[in-house]
Amino acid sequence: MDTIQCHAEDFVRTRLAPAVIPNDGKQTPMRGHPVFIAQHACACCCRGCLNKWYHVSQGRKLTENEQERIVKLLMAWIKRQMKNNAAGKE
Ligand SMILES: [Zn+2]
Repeated sequence: MDTIQCHAEDFVRTRLAPAVIPNDGKQTPMRGHPVFIAQHACACCCRGCLNKWYHVSQGRKLTENEQERIVKLLMAWIKRQMKNNAAGKE
């Protein structure tokens, strides 16, 4: 879980936080890493979605606080997902 959180912080900082993202809308793969899946599920996959769903304006860098909130949201979703999966296997 700590590793996933580390990756989430990393992805948010490098792929979502910059003011200008050349490939915005395509920077988050649809599969691969649990964090990517969570980003799509939570509409945190690109600045376009953040703007649309959370009214985060585009063209500026995300604050530390915003990055933290996104990571928390993603981690909560991943934890819920893992619990569901575990329950399904029993
Ligand atoms: Zn998006």
